Amino acid sequence: MEKRDYYDVLGVSRTADEAELKKAYRRLALEYHPDRNPDDPQAEEKFKEASEAYAVLSDAEKRRAYDRFGFAGVGQGAGGAPGFDFGNLGDVGDLFGDLFGDLFGGRATRTRRRGRAQRGADLRYNFEIDLADVLTGLETKIRLPKMRPCESCGGSGARPGTRPERCERCRGMGQVAFQQGFFRISRPCDACGGVGEVVRQHCTDCRGQGRVESRQTISVRVPPGVDEGTRLRLAGEGEAGVAGGPPGDLYVVISLKPHPLLHRDGRDLHCEVPVTFPQAALGGEIEVGTLEGTVKMQIPEGTQSGTVLRLRGKGVPSVGSPARGDQYVKIFVEVPTRLSDRQRELLESFAEEGGIEVSPKTRSFVEKLRDLFD
Ligand SMILES: [Zn+2]
Ligand SMILES: [Zn+2]
Repeated sequence: MEKRDYYDVLGVSRTADEAELKKAYRRLALEYHPDRNPDDPQAEEKFKEASEAYAVLSDAEKRRAYDRFGFAGVGQGAGGAPGFDFGNLGDVGDLFGDLFGDLFGGRATRTRRRGRAQRGADLRYNFEIDLADVLTGLETKIRLPKMRPCESCGGSGARPGTRPERCERCRGMGQVAFQQGFFRISRPCDACGGVGEVVRQHCTDCRGQGRVESRQTISVRVPPGVDEGTRLRLAGEGEAGVAGGPPGDLYVVISLKPHPLLHRDGRDLHCEVPVTFPQAALGGEIEVGTLEGTVKMQIPEGTQSGTVLRLRGKGVPSVGSPARGDQYVKIFVEVPTRLSDRQRELLESFAEEGGIEVSPKTRSFVEKLRDLFD
């Protein structure tokens, strides 16, 4: 299932206030609550989708993060945001008490645990992006093989028209007890493998597995500021669960393609730029490559090799913080390797003119030598 915008899920506008959110959620929750839709995985999905949307939008801080950064802002991305864990919905659980009162008999139950149900596996997908994509983020579609629920049997594994039946051996308990000496011992039921239900007639499309393999295309939104190793969590996009169990999650793990000129360190970028000896001595304008093309930069007269200059705001943002870092430009002065006769002459006369006297480091070095040996 494609992850839908939280406002769309609840069917409210982006400016909806607390009361509107609550009303919309209450309506959906009543319609899709698992207690009212037993053994309907689609209703269960809808119920979870609405609960997740409400949990985020009803929390002012999470809502702000979601408005700015989308799913990445509320834990679908890395960078310190807490992961959205469905098993951990303390707030929504409490809220059920308020919302439903004794409608479901006091505190509402969460999704009912069925004996055979098993959560689907999490999947990992490695995704390489260009350094330039860190600036803007990107949207892409990825294709990956994964198990999805079998449509013929709705994921139950039972032939359409039939249902899994209660196991007679263990009377649906999944466990059988027997006496051994003084002890009463329980062990998993052999007849049903401990799940309490047996499928008498298997669905032929999935051979009773309740799910089938398929290749699926999933939209992934990579937020700006991701870094090497950032994990984006797409809740519910992992493999389908077994026998109506919830799906696993998909983790998209980011790696960065090496850039030919720029090296990243957190929000800052570093590069090295060669300048000629006359440029360094006289100062002037040089061209520096940034993520957004080349920019012109002034270097002062007498710039030394190793000098680091800064281009403010030419770095990258981090996840959840749009402010960009800086780009540091390290200058190195290149010594010419092949001189024409004329250049040689000029350099020789430059040296005779007192080349040492105008080079600060050389001057102090020569002075130290004199102190040592004179
Ligand atoms: Zn099937
Ligand atoms: Zn059994």
